[in-house]
Amino acid sequence: MSTKVGKQTSGIHLTSAFDQEIAELVQSEEQRQLETINLIPSENFASPISTELEGCIFACKNAEGYPGRRFVAGCDYADKVEKLAIARLKKIFNCEHANVQGMSATIANVALLQAVLDPGDVILTMGLSEGGHLSHGANFHVSGRQYKVFHYGVKKDTETINYEEVAELAISHKPKLIVCGASSYPRNIDFMKFGDIARSVGALLWADIAHTVGLIVAGVIPSPFPYADFVTSSTHKTWRGPRGGAVVLCRKEWARKVDRALFPGLQGAPKMDLIAARAVFFKEVQTEEFRAYAKDVIKNASALAKGLKQSGTRLVSGGTDTHLVLIDVRSSIGTGAAAQDLLESVGIITNRNQIPFDRAPPEVGSGLRLGSPAMTTRGMMEEDFFRLGQLISCALSNHDSQLELSKIKAETLSMTNNLPLFAEKWLPRELFATHKET
Ligand SMILES: *Cc1c(COP(=O)(O)O)cnc(C)c1O
Repeated sequence: MSTKVGKQTSGIHLTSAFDQEIAELVQSEEQRQLETINLIPSENFASPISTELEGCIFACKNAEGYPGRRFVAGCDYADKVEKLAIARLKKIFNCEHANVQGMSATIANVALLQAVLDPGDVILTMGLSEGGHLSHGANFHVSGRQYKVFHYGVKKDTETINYEEVAELAISHKPKLIVCGASSYPRNIDFMKFGDIARSVGALLWADIAHTVGLIVAGVIPSPFPYADFVTSSTHKTWRGPRGGAVVLCRKEWARKVDRALFPGLQGAPKMDLIAARAVFFKEVQTEEFRAYAKDVIKNASALAKGLKQSGTRLVSGGTDTHLVLIDVRSSIGTGAAAQDLLESVGIITNRNQIPFDRAPPEVGSGLRLGSPAMTTRGMMEEDFFRLGQLISCALSNHDSQLELSKIKAETLSMTNNLPLFAEKWLPRELFATHKET
């Protein structure tokens, strides 16, 4: 049974024969991914089932429009594929309408804003440095240009969302739309509370679950339904599907506006091969194996948090409920940028981040964002994550000891020994049954 992720070096014969330069880079990247510990919480190793159809024959089909309403001929099979993807998604979330054509969550988010708002409307979103996403109205992003954007944040003492502030800002600014969902917030979001606040001021609620969607679908953390009017998500983070995709979910009454905002409002023809790949993946996330994976992601993030905390690293909000841990590195190495470089030199791949009330600019940051999804996919267990927490603390506090750092590097390399990119235990059982019969 193959657990290859994407098309690895063994599968790129034509490129190897025709373009050595690029083939070698693919090979080097494969080696890098195999030999390093990937703790970037927004990355994952896509399931081999969900990547099999990337680049398949549907990639050559222009299917501009929506099922039954295409602008070109020859779309019978494309229609069937897209309808299946939509039906599976609606079943997973028990929602009335789903759009699967978004080419990234950032674009889907812009489409949603355009579907719901008029220029000049007021929105209330989480601030970037406190965990929000740039597509939630950052001043340098298109989502921040046409609307009046107000930000809520976290409480100084607990570093968790300040719901009183959300309620106060909602009352004083009367937003048309309130946005919840974040990129670097380690705690569960109280969607019910957000729903109550939105309803009390007549606002709509949008939950962007790009980071936590896999955990929500598996039922291991709370869902934004039925509280949110709109839900958007990417497909490649905790969801473990192919990168470059997004879904938008809403009630029937919004279906037409949302669909039109995405196509023809922002995009042209969809990538049908990716829609096919997503349809398969929406089937895969309903398996026992995926639920078991999501449970492990949470357990492993807790173990990582424990390892870090016990060895003296400060965790933003004191811990995690999800796949993500945010650490404060000011007292050890000073900046997130320095921490990211140091850890890369010992084989641990992370990403620098601002922490709440950060004085350092976003390019530098005072923290690091760490996550368990990718290494859980590779098969690492709680004890490995606990150990990684200790190793990270040790590297950060011994950042000028070459001896310590080389010991840590040797240990991280040995931890990746014999680990596949996608552990066989996560493959759905049905695959093995079919395999035996043939
Ligand atoms: C990652 C992320 C996105 C963007 O997803 P892309 O597919 O990379 O565009 C949007 N919203 C949130 C909250 C995210 O974390």
